[in-house]
Amino acid sequence: MQPQHKRLLGAAATGLAAAVAAHILRRWRDRRRIRRMTKVELHAHLNGSIRPATLKRLAAERGLDAACLDRKRTLEVCFEIFALIHKCVDSLEIVAVIAREFLEDLRADGCAYVELRTTPRALQGRTEADYVRTVCRVLSEASGITARLLVSVDRSRGPEAAAKTLAEVAQLRRSDATVDRIVVGVDFSGNPTSKHGFDAFEHLFREVRDQWGLGCALHVGETPRSDGDSAKILAFAREKPRRVRFGHALAFSDDELRGCASLIEACPSSNAATLDLARLEDHPRLWCHFHSTGSPPLAICTDDTGVFGCSLAGEYLKVWDAFGPVDLVRVVDDAAAAAFDACCGEAVRRRRAMYNV
Ligand SMILES: [Zn+2]
Repeated sequence: MQPQHKRLLGAAATGLAAAVAAHILRRWRDRRRIRRMTKVELHAHLNGSIRPATLKRLAAERGLDAACLDRKRTLEVCFEIFALIHKCVDSLEIVAVIAREFLEDLRADGCAYVELRTTPRALQGRTEADYVRTVCRVLSEASGITARLLVSVDRSRGPEAAAKTLAEVAQLRRSDATVDRIVVGVDFSGNPTSKHGFDAFEHLFREVRDQWGLGCALHVGETPRSDGDSAKILAFAREKPRRVRFGHALAFSDDELRGCASLIEACPSSNAATLDLARLEDHPRLWCHFHSTGSPPLAICTDDTGVFGCSLAGEYLKVWDAFGPVDLVRVVDDAAAAAFDACCGEAVRRRRAMYNV
């Protein structure tokens, strides 16, 4: 090789190495910024957010097999983990531990405000009202993060059970100032193929929205199949969209969602498992949001960190890797604007001022 060719080759190699180094440095800085940035969590189920280490410990204490936690999170494995959680969470003390640990994890991930949701259960002789009171106490004692509660109505338990739970919550809100301050909405959840359609619960959500003045977070369109039940939920939401958020809403186009809800709660890892996506780039709602104009606002949420093996910061990073560069600060601002407690905006501003991210 001629000396001048060697020099040219050397210069090209040096330039390439510098470009690769700059790319790696930029990527590292982006990821560090996203990990530390101030976030908001609007869709997290309390029991499903159990730390895997805690679940393993509880399973061992009860002689239950927890091997599912070490397997790849297919939908089948996720259902096994849900069943294991249900067996292990058998006291209010454990519920309180899960809530405290999850709040710690969220704070470490940069979360300034969270709305946790849970279906009250009567456990070991304690009532559903005791359950709500216990969770509200833990959330009210959180430091470095503002935490609120959505009471979940599990549609598979039927409308009578939901009415009974909500009547107890209404009574608690009148008699307990902490519960009144912490409960900011009601969630509609449970198996979407249950025989109980939304119309059996609609009067309850109307009461929550119009008489209690609280928000309604409705699971809808969790799979690509849109059915009559979804149409009823969309019609209800259209009446007062600012009081309603949708969880998942994977079944709908931007046009179908227009004017329905203040925000869509997107849960990347959970949705990827439900839709069996090989890559997050194919997530229908995230794709619409980041590729088209006029798409409804969305929040990045975790759904069930303990089940899907994810974290809030990790979900932001996944979205960045699949769709970035995108404006994640705008995503957080949209989430703050759609929170059911107006104090969320102040919590976000406070953390941003404190950490400058
Ligand atoms: Zn959910």
